[in-house]
Amino acid sequence: MFKIGLTGGIGSGKSRVADMLGEWGATLVDTDEIARALTAANGAAMPAIEREFGPQALTPDGALNREWMRERAFSDPQARLRLEAVLHPAITEETRRQAAAATGLYLVFVVPLLVESLARWRTRVDRICVVDCDPETQVARVQSRSGLTGPAIRRIMAAQAARASRLEVADDVIVNDGATSPEQLRAQAKTLHDRWLTLATTTGR
Ligand code: ADP
Repeated sequence: MFKIGLTGGIGSGKSRVADMLGEWGATLVDTDEIARALTAANGAAMPAIEREFGPQALTPDGALNREWMRERAFSDPQARLRLEAVLHPAITEETRRQAAAATGLYLVFVVPLLVESLARWRTRVDRICVVDCDPETQVARVQSRSGLTGPAIRRIMAAQAARASRLEVADDVIVNDGATSPEQLRAQAKTLHDRWLTLATTTGR
């Protein structure tokens, strides 16, 4: 199957783009969604996380205590690595499982940290598509979507790849900055969808 890796910084609009591609017939495999499911109450990764970090890493209903983990990971890089050691193999396995079951026109992996783990992804996708956005708009969008403060959002952004390094590895770019209307975003996504459909057919994957 023809495969796209879709990425972009927090608040860039990649979920919105992914939803449209799904609407038009692509199969979506969202690694963030997989990570969330694994760490939800009764998620498959929760017993291993409790063994690794103790009960304080869990909320009363048994989900990952994200607030606690985020604070821990920022102050202690080792904690972040330990969490990744538990989560990454589980995410990889579920990503493979979902990709193998895909029935759509082509496959879109939605991977927020694709550029941060480029070595793993470059060989697994035919094209990398970056949703590009200026940092100010990212902050404004995430602020109105979530309860996070400006500094908290900037801290997350600082831990993600820089805008320039994302653009450097992009085969396709969707511009979704502060001046981009939802209609303009849709038009760009549709143009790429049509192009990918052609490629999916002509490459015979
Ligand atoms: P990401 O998945 O990259 O974090 P989202 O797709 O969730 O980003 O977009 C962040 C927020 O900004 C969402 O509430 C989304 O609806 C909104 N948004 C994204 N692009 C636009 C746009 N061009 N115009 C208006 N709102 C947008």
